[in-house]
Amino acid sequence: MEFIDNNISSLQTYLSNLTGLSLSIYGEKGNIILPPIKENKLLSVIRSSSRGRDEYNDFLKGCIEKAIQRRNVSIFKGPSGQYHFFIPLRVDDSVFVVAGGGVYLSQKEFEDLYVKDAESYGLPLNQLKSWSQEIIIRDYADIQDTARHIQSIFNLFLKSSYEGILNEKRYRSMKTILSLISDMKLDKQADGVYDILVDIMLFLFNADSISVMIKDDSAGSPLFRPRRAAGRLKEHLQSVPLKVSGMVSEVVEKQRPLYSEDVMEILRLGLSDEVTSIYVFPIKSDGKVTGLLGTFNSNIKQEDADIISDLCRITGFIFRLIELQGIYDKRIKDIDVLNIAATRLNPVKEPEMLYETIVDTSVNLTDAEKGSLMLFEEDFLTIKAAKGINKGLLREIKIKIGEGIAGKVFSEGIPLIVDDIEKDERIQLRRRPNYRTGSFISIPLKIGDETIGVLNIADKITGEVFLEEDMAILRSFASYASIALERSMYWSLAGHLRELSITDSLTGIFNRRYFEERFFEELQRSQRHNLSFSLAMIDIDDFKLFNDTEGHLAGDEALKNIANIAKESLRVIDVIARFGGEEFALIMPQTEKEEAFLVAERIRRSIKEQLPCTWKVFPRNNITTSIGVATFPSDGKDRKELIRNSDKALYRGKMEGKDKTVLWGR
Ligand code: GH3
Ligand code: MG
Ligand code: MG
Repeated sequence: MEFIDNNISSLQTYLSNLTGLSLSIYGEKGNIILPPIKENKLLSVIRSSSRGRDEYNDFLKGCIEKAIQRRNVSIFKGPSGQYHFFIPLRVDDSVFVVAGGGVYLSQKEFEDLYVKDAESYGLPLNQLKSWSQEIIIRDYADIQDTARHIQSIFNLFLKSSYEGILNEKRYRSMKTILSLISDMKLDKQADGVYDILVDIMLFLFNADSISVMIKDDSAGSPLFRPRRAAGRLKEHLQSVPLKVSGMVSEVVEKQRPLYSEDVMEILRLGLSDEVTSIYVFPIKSDGKVTGLLGTFNSNIKQEDADIISDLCRITGFIFRLIELQGIYDKRIKDIDVLNIAATRLNPVKEPEMLYETIVDTSVNLTDAEKGSLMLFEEDFLTIKAAKGINKGLLREIKIKIGEGIAGKVFSEGIPLIVDDIEKDERIQLRRRPNYRTGSFISIPLKIGDETIGVLNIADKITGEVFLEEDMAILRSFASYASIALERSMYWSLAGHLRELSITDSLTGIFNRRYFEERFFEELQRSQRHNLSFSLAMIDIDDFKLFNDTEGHLAGDEALKNIANIAKESLRVIDVIARFGGEEFALIMPQTEKEEAFLVAERIRRSIKEQLPCTWKVFPRNNITTSIGVATFPSDGKDRKELIRNSDKALYRGKMEGKDKTVLWGR
């Protein structure tokens, strides 16, 4: 599988770090392709017990099978109560499954299961407390959301690397032809092109038999005479010219490739019954079909057919170049320009910059004055970047699909080149007051079968009309641009996923994972610049009693409200996170003890005063909290010491009667 490469494993690492979840990749048969990045410690202990090993092997195999059958994200509860998601992915003909998760739905569910099953998995009961620090808790909806995000990102990624490979193939064949031709002597040029075309078909596309035919008008009715044939049926194909009738006349008229397995059709063309299928591609030169590329008994996929069409377009174009030597040098240059342009698109992550680059490059490649890029967003085409056109005017414009020129190009997915808009039958629109000429090109931006936007250029600097070559080069560029655009969408999706992975699903504030990241950053920053910062640990008083009297659901509701009240009473620089259970941690950057005390007290009072008392049995009128504060560097120089000392201060608060803030060391 050529897609399971380094790129995929770095994507796996990236997503695993982003979500904090273990992710592994399995083959169709349940064989592991890439082992998990982030080890799930509890799970690996469970899986090393003999019960766990057997249960999990069966479980994984079954889940992978089911996910592939369903062709969709599937979530299953594992033998030890952890939830796992399975994402089937299809590329080309192969299937694999991204598996991940290993999370619990709630602390309680984990504890119940642990008490019930721990010993049979070889886990001592008295380790419950320490294991409960290690586990990850997520809402079911969060797991689904995360899995779907991962699925979209993988799909985008796979599609774009797949497209990337296709494009590389496309680029290689064009470049090969052009560079070989540049070495040839004038009189041999056409012959050389046939040879290269035949070689490319044989080696890049594994064609069984091929024939390159050129139109001969000298006889009474026109014929396509074979100039080169190759493959198994070489002898036969070399001897058969094709008449312009049946499917061949359709190829010539419609100027598009056709495929047939119809025996009668094949015999009527004068071919022998050894030929079981025929795929005919037109080679156009100066707007007319002057040659044909026939492939016989070959299994050509749709994606390959697209490339071969391009190849024939280039070939026709080269035939014309042979006639018009002057333009030739410029085109070679264009191909190089194209390559440089494409590499320029690669590292761009900022979408706005990418949009501008795409429009600039398109305009430069075609010597146009005006250009615009439109992307499909929420049912409309929106203008993302423009050159030579009043931007203020364009920004607000939304184009309906199927309407106007761009809307049509988008819905039909077919490029449009127009010499003169006033005279073109295909276009209803007539007046374009802001344009100097009536000539333009509109190209759909595609990833696979999906159209994602439209690229437009208008008004050639010279005032002339745009040529087929302009369109050809713009189309090639558009395929690179589409990939770059899709990549940038992938970055923004990743941003979304990150948000999901750093928030706590119950309270909506940051989770423990984010706290650890920020805490580490703050510690480093403060060490580097000799600054102090404070850490506060907030614990709800008698919350067990609250749960016992009011019920767990009321407890959850209270937790949510407390988190929100606390968040509201923070300064913008402070960061609050759910540290675990009913404990919150607060980082106060550049904050000395005294100031930290004021912030903590404000939070404590807000919670006590603002939470409406709706409970029935809980014996007090307010929910109160105790807070312990430690300050860097005086109360601790590393993570461990600071957390321990703020915890100890908190404990002192509890001992001294709760409902208070205690500073460590005071
Ligand atoms: P103290 O005043 O000493 O803090 O007493 P406490 O009862 O609050 O003791 P502790 O801090 O150890 O309480 C933890 C309790 O918080 C146990 C559990 O019932 C409850 N709790 C932890 N996480 C959740 C949660 O997500 N939802 C609900 N409803 N309760 C939780
Ligand atoms: Mg507690
Ligand atoms: Mg408590």
